[in-house]
Amino acid sequence: MDSPSVDSDRGVSVPEAGDGGACTGGSLNRLKIEPRGKRVLAVCAHPDDLEFYCGGTMARLAAAGAEIVLLLATAGDKGSFDPGMPGARLAELRLEEALRGAHVMGLSSVYCLGYPDGELAYGVSAAELRCRIAGVMRAVRPNLLVTFDPWKRYELHPDHRRVGQVTLDARLAAKLPLYPVEARLPRRLPVAGGAGEGASDGGAGVRRVGGGAPGIEQPAAAQPSPGLRPWAIPEIWLFQPEEANLLAEIGPFFPAKLAALQAHASQFLEEKDTLAAQLRSEAAEEGRRWLGKADAWNLAPQVLSVPVSAAGLAPAGGPAVDPAGGSAGLYEAFRRIMIVGSTAFSGQSAQ
Ligand SMILES: [Zn+2]
Repeated sequence: MDSPSVDSDRGVSVPEAGDGGACTGGSLNRLKIEPRGKRVLAVCAHPDDLEFYCGGTMARLAAAGAEIVLLLATAGDKGSFDPGMPGARLAELRLEEALRGAHVMGLSSVYCLGYPDGELAYGVSAAELRCRIAGVMRAVRPNLLVTFDPWKRYELHPDHRRVGQVTLDARLAAKLPLYPVEARLPRRLPVAGGAGEGASDGGAGVRRVGGGAPGIEQPAAAQPSPGLRPWAIPEIWLFQPEEANLLAEIGPFFPAKLAALQAHASQFLEEKDTLAAQLRSEAAEEGRRWLGKADAWNLAPQVLSVPVSAAGLAPAGGPAVDPAGGSAGLYEAFRRIMIVGSTAFSGQSAQ
């Protein structure tokens, strides 16, 4: 049985209706945002994953006041069809693109673990990856975790499968104090106007892409890290889900998603209009696909109040939004998981 809502202190969202079915697959919930003062940690494999899979939702959360931190496992140093492209140069380029995309969406900080692209399931142990992601979870202390659905069938990219599975496993390690976690934070990349701008990298130094596995101790030999208190994340959203039970309307934030993806110039060679048409079609298809399966869908359209300038850009560098209110019927889908009782432990040890 799912919890009817998260505590207002700790939660990020509550569904508007049909909550009893949130985890049963019987109904869909439309996203209602109450994120002010909340923290979101998104864990992705590559620099453009977040924009592609849920960039509209992230922009919407950021515009509503959420602090969003992005953790990249790799810098995408194999993401090119050009055989002459040096991986290190591509990594630099793609991290710059990631920062531009993060700025467009209104993210606060971006961290990069710097593992080699495509090798998360081959050159990196799951235990090490879990150890490092869990350390970031304890440091960031998010209310909401966003990542890949590891149970999605026919996911062809090994990094996507690996990040989804290990990130969910890391949530448990972050929660329980006897699990070893990596206390040194990874490299923090400054997002213009974000909370991380001008901050240090946490003393971890820079993990060079393509330089082999990072030189941390193997988790089997590591000790629990008293410097990072355990933290239980009460809510998870899995994007590109095998089965969705949460839809986020992104119509007003479709311009932000498009602009954030266009920041990844090394990846998207299409003309802007072509890319926009493709994304719009996919976002509309998400709605048709999941709404058609909904047993109970009688919810009124949600209105999200966001300050919009005449140019269609929110003030203070916020996400781009459509001043006309956007296109109806554009969605991003998630599998939403509430962890009942998960806050009890952290309430004792992490407050
Ligand atoms: Zn990817």
